Amino acid sequence: MQGLFDSNLKVELEAWLQEKFAATCQAMGERVPISGVRISPPVAEWEAQYFLLGLEENLFAVDERGEVTSELLPPADEAHPPQSYRLFSHQPPRLLRENLCQLATAARLILERGWLRRHLNLQPSRPEHRATADGCDLLVRSSAGEILISVEVKRSRLELEKLIADLRACSRRGPHAHEDCGFPQNHPRHEFYVARCPAYLWAVAPDGELCLAVKCEENSLELEQLASLPPRSLLELA
Ligand SMILES: [Zn+2]
Repeated sequence: MQGLFDSNLKVELEAWLQEKFAATCQAMGERVPISGVRISPPVAEWEAQYFLLGLEENLFAVDERGEVTSELLPPADEAHPPQSYRLFSHQPPRLLRENLCQLATAARLILERGWLRRHLNLQPSRPEHRATADGCDLLVRSSAGEILISVEVKRSRLELEKLIADLRACSRRGPHAHEDCGFPQNHPRHEFYVARCPAYLWAVAPDGELCLAVKCEENSLELEQLASLPPRSLLELA
């Protein structure tokens, strides 16, 4: 029965995405494509499970313009306009596939790994640390504010492996500018890790995940691959 149960969740999430996508197209004054929203790569079982649980637990919601609202995003006030974080981009309307995986991963950190909402932040990257224009960083912080886990989301396990290889290559080269980097796609993330020194990097894609312990030295990183993300109790002790 497990297989049947799982695939029902995927069907449910896909139907939800189609509905939200149609609403976003209408709000943008765009015609809804006959083929509906393109979901590529397809939603994984765990993504369907945790994204739907996240919605159910009010961890996040998506409005009729495809905009994500969540207490994990920085609160808006007079000095800080609301952070725009979308599930669908507008021109042309399309699913931001990595943001779907990122929200499912945030729900997983809380509902599977036992972190509390107040430990998690979805926050805009500084432009020099940003890999994609539509993204936010997903961080797990200790009560003292240190970054325990930096979550990286990619579309596939292959892209995760490339990210790690690129981070290592940037580190080996010593200080260098983005323009001089042979790995320009992931160089901003190297800058981020050197500047922010999270204790762990958890790289997640629909079809796989990698966890690494991060040690920051001056302008370089030492990345040690682990079998899995250590439990909350262990990270909080360290
Ligand atoms: Zn580089």
